[in-house]
Amino acid sequence: MTAEVIVDIAHSEVDKIFEYRAIDGVAAGSQVKVPFGGRVVDGFVMRLKEGSDFDAAKLKSILSAVDGIPALNGECLRLVDEIAARYHCPKALVLRLFLPGEMRKGTVRELFKNVAVFEREIEISSRAKAQAAVLAHMKEKGREDYTLLREKFGQAAAELVKKGALRVEKERVNRSPYAALAAGGAEHPLTPAQQSAVEAVKNSHKTVQLLHGVTGSGKTEIYLTLIAEALRQGKSAIFLVPEIALTPQMFKQLRARFGESAAILHSGLSAGEKFDEWWRLRTGEAKIAIGARSAVFAPVENVGVIVMDEEHDQSYASESNPRYRTVEIAKFRAAYNGCKLVLGSATPSVETYLKAKEGEYGLLELPERIHARPMPEIVIADMRREVRRGNNTAFSAALREELADCLEKGKQAIIFINRRGFAQSVICRECGYVAKCASCDVSLTYHSEEDCLKCHYCGAQYHMLSACPECGSIHLNYTGTGTQKVVGELKKMYPSARILRMDNDTTSGKEGHYKILKAFAERRADILVGTQMVAKGHDFPAVTLVGILDADMSLHFSDYRSGERTFQLVTQVSGRSGRAEERGKVVLQTYDPENYILRFAVENDYKGFFEHEISLRKATAFPPFARIVRVMISSEDDKKALDALKEIWFSLQALYEKEREEFLFFNKMRSPVKRIQNKFRYQVLMRIKSDKLLSEIYDRSLPHASRDVLVYVEEDPNNLS
Ligand code: ADP
Ligand code: ZN
Ligand code: ZN
Repeated sequence: MTAEVIVDIAHSEVDKIFEYRAIDGVAAGSQVKVPFGGRVVDGFVMRLKEGSDFDAAKLKSILSAVDGIPALNGECLRLVDEIAARYHCPKALVLRLFLPGEMRKGTVRELFKNVAVFEREIEISSRAKAQAAVLAHMKEKGREDYTLLREKFGQAAAELVKKGALRVEKERVNRSPYAALAAGGAEHPLTPAQQSAVEAVKNSHKTVQLLHGVTGSGKTEIYLTLIAEALRQGKSAIFLVPEIALTPQMFKQLRARFGESAAILHSGLSAGEKFDEWWRLRTGEAKIAIGARSAVFAPVENVGVIVMDEEHDQSYASESNPRYRTVEIAKFRAAYNGCKLVLGSATPSVETYLKAKEGEYGLLELPERIHARPMPEIVIADMRREVRRGNNTAFSAALREELADCLEKGKQAIIFINRRGFAQSVICRECGYVAKCASCDVSLTYHSEEDCLKCHYCGAQYHMLSACPECGSIHLNYTGTGTQKVVGELKKMYPSARILRMDNDTTSGKEGHYKILKAFAERRADILVGTQMVAKGHDFPAVTLVGILDADMSLHFSDYRSGERTFQLVTQVSGRSGRAEERGKVVLQTYDPENYILRFAVENDYKGFFEHEISLRKATAFPPFARIVRVMISSEDDKKALDALKEIWFSLQALYEKEREEFLFFNKMRSPVKRIQNKFRYQVLMRIKSDKLLSEIYDRSLPHASRDVLVYVEEDPNNLS
């Protein structure tokens, strides 16, 4: 037999199949060691076949197989081919998505411990009291950790092994993440609305189902029911969540419901834990893979359902090669397994919602919270008026009053600080004017190193403003407020309140987020101050007030999606308020109180927002009605980067001339951020009408990469800096 092998070297020159003579125990999907260019390297068997395309006598043999079972199943092997073709990426690089790094290198393996097992009764002399004690102990217990046994009884344990009364064997140890995490979360009987959503998913003939349910409508229970159903049928499940910060809570619920069948995959785990969780899934010992986007590559077989919670979240798009979109991978797996892919969100991306409206996806709507609990009341605080009144703190009078009231009642509050677009857009604090590009109608981004404003969609540069062109005020704001400053102001206003801060500085360590969230859930604090992390998914029953500082910061983020992002953010953050009996309140602070996006959010009107946004996108020919494609070129050597840019530009220009009507925008430029990590950055920026030319754009760009010059293609990137 001949094995077709991909060697684990991510270089386009070795991105092809190499043939080796197969050895016993090797199958498609096996990780193997092979001789390659005078070295021994890791590789993966993609296929076994009879005969060879080459002189069979000259084929080198595979040296050894790494594990007893193939690392990749048949489905994953197919998926490797699909992803490599779709994203024009070397297969070795794609393979790495499927296996945590430590495992590929073979540096982490299973962990074993020695256990003593009772074998048989033997005669023991009356003087050997210790041995008699061990024997009695083991007769009762049957098995025990051998190290522990020796700590308890010393040499006597070893004596009994020698005499054959005990036997020592190896047992696999599970390095279980969050072992200390108590399983929790009650199982609720489904409400009629939840029940009919579950039925609709099961009975639909459409593979992809959008579950659009307002915050607090009980989506989690629907996911868990569908997962339980898959398990009952002997199948497995994949459950994707956007943020690692959320995973422990979700995991806790899954553990309560499914015990050891649930395995968690995420980058914060230790190498050993990663290995064990992955291995439990690969061997079928665990059936449910839960994790952030990379869990979509989980080595489970016979998948019964895939859930993608908060489907609109940006973290589902990979920002390193291959730049895959999680939903594309999930769709492939759902189709392959003939199962459903459930996309859930209170604020679906307009792209997804459009597909659901047009009938490509099934659409399930849960317009009400569980037990018809009211949605929170959102009041807008006009910050321009606060400035005119001489209030220079981050808190409006309205928010201060509500906070005092909330604390007095012994309830909890969340203060959300918008960090997206931090120090980016320029806003007049007196009239709310925002600096925008004259030709693109997106807000400009401030670049401090050059002290200028730039448009990320056309490359235009503007002088930094010294006064507002609308009202002449010099109170221009281009920095957000930091968490620390906010905490300081809160302490002054409410000296006895207990305050927790959650941001990048306070959440280091594997369980950093979890500790803070846990403390807040246990009501060891009254106010939680935080950035984006506090916005998502949390369910704190005692929270009755949410304050949103700088709602505008993302509204004027220089991105065509800024309206959408703002709507999502305001809705998500607001959704943390009033999830139990008492109706929640939200104070939304803005310099732009008339803004239609904020109005839709206040009215909790997703459909109104959607209709408005989608017609805007259509009129301006932005995604999903067009695609933004950026070819990035970067190098430490400015000249080499420029040379590559010219070559790529030349090649793409031929395409542009040929297919002019497909292009809405086509230009080359320095990237808005000129240099990152000492690499000079250039780009060809395109807006194209469809996916028709996508593959050709990759083909005309990537070959110009070299050892010194990095070239990659981004589709509808999350940011254009
Ligand atoms: P969502 O994910 O849609 O925001 P959750 O799944 O967090 O909503 O549910 C909101 C709250 O309602 C949670 O506290 C949850 O425990 C509770 N809940 C969910 N389903 C039921 C049910 N069938 N009966 C009672 N309470 C429920
Ligand atoms: Zn102004
Ligand atoms: Zn522009």
